[in-house]
Amino acid sequence: MRRPQLDIQLKTPDQIEKMRAAGLVVAEALRRMREAVAPGVSTADLDAIAEATIREAGAVPSFKGYHGFPASICSSVNEQIVHAIPSAAQVLRDGDIISIDCGAILDGWHGDAAITVEVGEVDPALRRMTSVAEDAMWAGIAAAARGAASGRGRLTDISHAVEDTVRRGGRYGIVDGYGGHGIGTEMHQDPHVLNHGRPGKGPRLVPGMALAIEPMITMGSPRTAELADGWTVVTRDGSMAVHVEHTMALLPDGVWVLTAPDGGRARLGELVTARQPADSPAV
Ligand code: MG
Ligand code: MG
Repeated sequence: MRRPQLDIQLKTPDQIEKMRAAGLVVAEALRRMREAVAPGVSTADLDAIAEATIREAGAVPSFKGYHGFPASICSSVNEQIVHAIPSAAQVLRDGDIISIDCGAILDGWHGDAAITVEVGEVDPALRRMTSVAEDAMWAGIAAAARGAASGRGRLTDISHAVEDTVRRGGRYGIVDGYGGHGIGTEMHQDPHVLNHGRPGKGPRLVPGMALAIEPMITMGSPRTAELADGWTVVTRDGSMAVHVEHTMALLPDGVWVLTAPDGGRARLGELVTARQPADSPAV
């Protein structure tokens, strides 16, 4: 049986520069929200910060109106994994964790990233889970960079690196049915990027690809349920969950983490493109 042809949009270096500008808007919105997170703050307060930051930069919040989504961020607290709708009634409490996902369109190009933030004092086990998810995301990005550099990399090398890092990190559930994606002139493009799987499969990793890498892991089962609002995805067993994400692009001389203020330099070192330092503010 023939596989359906993937429609992968390859970007020129100039287009990737535009995606970088969009990525930095998302990074700034997330930075401001991270600073604002505290007990007593509502998820609607965070949404207002995101929207103001994005519009101030002359960009558009990509989530707002996306298939009818009503806000500029997804704010997923505790057992909520992704796609939760911000609300004035949802007030953060000491010990919560919140995953904030944010996207912006600037000059027609998208950025998409997510962070998990602790509210007050949290259980060290939750801090550890967040750090494993971040490590897994960076391992996936590094795998993409190495794969593109060798000319032999394939898409599921990323998936494998994410899964492998999570498995080494502990007994976590890797959320099933959600994953990363191509990104460019739309937020969600081909290919879908699974967070688990065997390496060496799927399309070749080549310069010009831009991908969002986004591990979602839980303290328990990988199974999910959707709430009656038609958006919020929660763990079926009620266990805590985290979600982190970066948008990255492959260039001929390395990777560029478009939604990281330092372009990924601190985590990836020499794998990062030489193009990156000139236009990037200090972290
Ligand atoms: Mg996202
Ligand atoms: Mg995404």
